[in-house]
This record gives sequence, structure tokens and C-alpha cells, in this order.
Amino acid sequence: MQEFTTDVAVIGAGPTGLFAVFECGMLKMSCHVVDALPAIGGQCTALYPEKPIYDIPAAPEVSAAELVARLQAQIAPFAPQFHLDQQVVELQRREDGWELVTSLGTRIRARAVILAAGAGAFGPNRPPLAGIEPYEGRCVHYLVSDRERFRGQRLVIAGGGDSAVDWAISLAELAAEIHVVHRRDRFRAAPESAARLEQLAASGRVRLVIPYQLAGLEGDGEQLSAVIVKTLEGAERRIEADHLLAFFGLVSKLGPINDWGLDAHNGVIPVDPSTCATRVPGIFAIGDIATYPRKLKLILTGFAEAAHAAHAAYEIVHPDRALHFEYSTSTGVPGR
Ligand SMILES: Cc1cc2nc3c(=O)[nH]c(=O)nc-3n(C[C@H](O)[C@H](O)[C@H](O)COP(=O)(O)OP(=O)(O)OC[C@H]3O[C@@H](n4cnc5c(N)ncnc54)[C@H](O)[C@@H]3O)c2cc1C
Repeated sequence: MQEFTTDVAVIGAGPTGLFAVFECGMLKMSCHVVDALPAIGGQCTALYPEKPIYDIPAAPEVSAAELVARLQAQIAPFAPQFHLDQQVVELQRREDGWELVTSLGTRIRARAVILAAGAGAFGPNRPPLAGIEPYEGRCVHYLVSDRERFRGQRLVIAGGGDSAVDWAISLAELAAEIHVVHRRDRFRAAPESAARLEQLAASGRVRLVIPYQLAGLEGDGEQLSAVIVKTLEGAERRIEADHLLAFFGLVSKLGPINDWGLDAHNGVIPVDPSTCATRVPGIFAIGDIATYPRKLKLILTGFAEAAHAAHAAYEIVHPDRALHFEYSTSTGVPGR
């Protein structure tokens, strides 16, 4: 079991949680960040990494993955500590603040908590294949955080929606071999993406295995060697592969957050928009999970909320110090 102490604990490493680290860092507050996903970036990483975003101020067009990379670079001077692949399951009040406990048993003590939990903890819809667990994270993936990892590898991509199709197109540039397995003969992806996939299939760069569904895995328990697929009628095929990428959607659950006395209704938590304070002193909520009249669930809104929450959290972390508002042009970036 690992134990840590920090000024501010941030729950959720989506774009707003990451920017909260920046805003806290500018006020010289340290942060630990927890996310249920194995990679940072929240919805940007999990749902639409390759899509361009057009409404980030001063970035006329930026892909969701690039936005996350830029946020990561922006917060690097503050050396936040990330605890990924684990969900915050308990939040307990302590004399001097809060203690978070994660699903892996990590304990983080913090003076203040910034909840940037979006729609809740993300988790994959896992295919019901016997013996899949030891391969997960190693040869079976539900999310791509580093496409270079698949260079020269034999991949089976399963699923029929945007994620499966977009990753098949993207990874076709660098994988040795790609089989796309889908249980129907049509893909549910955006029409231009589905058309591009058909072109890649016609040129032999990608092989479509339709209509088939996943039926089993072969390997030594560490390294995958093949994926078994079947038709609805039971006809079986064996596809030699190093990795299985299964994109059957992600589920998000507020789960334990509902029990923290924050007045959560329909997946959102009411806050005072001038501070992002929830009804519980010391706990702030920002981004998609925070609500108030006329709230816009946009990344840029979450960024501003991160600034409000960090300034309000300062009063809790340093009750004995007055905070004088300063521009970044005056302070520079502490620690850089
Ligand atoms: C397809 C699509 C396109 C979009 N396009 C745009 C756009 O063009 N412009 C725009 O502004 N917005 C866009 N959005 C919306 C934008 O992505 C969200 O507003 C933004 O991601 C919210 O950020 P967040 O940090 O609040 O939450 P999220 O990005 O949802 O991140 C929350 C994180 O918290 C984690 N988490 C939750 N609970 C726990 C827990 N208990 N323990 C550990 N971790 C936890 C989750 O795993 C998740 O990673 C789009 C969304 C989608 C789906």
C-alpha cells in the first residue's frame, strides 16, 4: 500500500483536471492526480483522440490527442504525481483535510480536493473471453495511448464503431498486419472513415473479418499468439496476432462519488460558479461534472473553472496567507 501527502488531490485526468494542476502549480500548490484510465486525457484520449477540436482559444485546430500532449507539457514544470488505472473509491474527512483511497489501495492525503471526474470513472466494455485477464494491458488493449507501440506488430482490431475504424486506419500506417473483426457486415463509423477503411481493405493493407465475433485467445498467458473468431453459425477462424485491440465502447460510472454527500443528481454536482466550491467545504468540482445555471459542458469552460477552483482552494491549503492576484506575465512559471 502506498501513502502520499499533497496540497491538492485532483480526481480525474481529463483536460480540466490537467489544467487544474497548472492553476494550482502557478499558486505553488502541489498536486496528485488519480484516474481510472491507464492514460491521461479523459474523454479526449478515450473517445476521440484523432478528432480535431476547433474551439480551444488560440488553437484554430488541434486534435484531442495533441491538446492532451500540450496540457501535459504545460504542467510538466509542476511535476504532478499521477496514479493511473485506479479509481478513487473512498473519500474520508481527516482533521487536516481529506484522504482518498483508490481501488489499488493507494492513499492520498490532501488539504483540498478538486473533482474533475467528467461523467465518472471510465472503464471498458470487456469482451467475455475466457482467460483474458493476464493479457490485459500487455497484449489486449481497450485504449491506445501510444500508437508507436504497435509498429511492426500483427493486430486484431475488434468493433464496428468510430474507435475501431479510426484506429484501423491510423495503425495501418505502421502495423505489420491488421485484421478488423466485426460481427456485422457494415461499420457504424462516420461514412468517410468507413469508406477509407474499405479502400485500405481493397488495397490489402487491412483485412476485414466480417461478420465474425471474438471467440477465444491463444497464447502462453503472457504473450498472445492468436485470436479465435467465429460466425454466428459457429464457423471458426484462427488469426495469428501479437495484440488484440477491442473497441466495444467505454462505460462511465459516478459510482462512489454519489455517496460523498455532494448532492449529485443526474451525474452532475452543483457548485458556486465563482469558486467551484461544492456544498462540502474543501471539495471543489470542475469540468463536465460541475453544474450551475446555464453551464456549458465545454473544455474551455472547464479551464476557467480550474482557475476559480485553484484560487479558492488556496484559501484552504494556506488559511494563514493572503493570496494576491497576479498575472502569469508577472510571476512567470514557478519551478521552470
Ligand atoms: C466525440 C466528442 C467530441 C467532443 N468535442 C468537443 C469539442 O469540440 N470542444 C469541446 O470543448 N468539448 C468537446 N467535447 C466534450 C469534452 O471532451 C468534455 O467537455 C471534456 O472532456 C470534459 O473534461 P473533464 O476533464 O471535465 O472530464 P473528462 O474528460 O470526462 O475526464 C474525466 C476523467 O475522470 C476520471 N474519473 C472519474 N471518476 C473517477 C474516479 N472515481 N476515480 C478515478 N478517476 C475518475 C475518468 O476516468 C476520466 O478520465 C467532446 C466530447 C466528445 C465525446
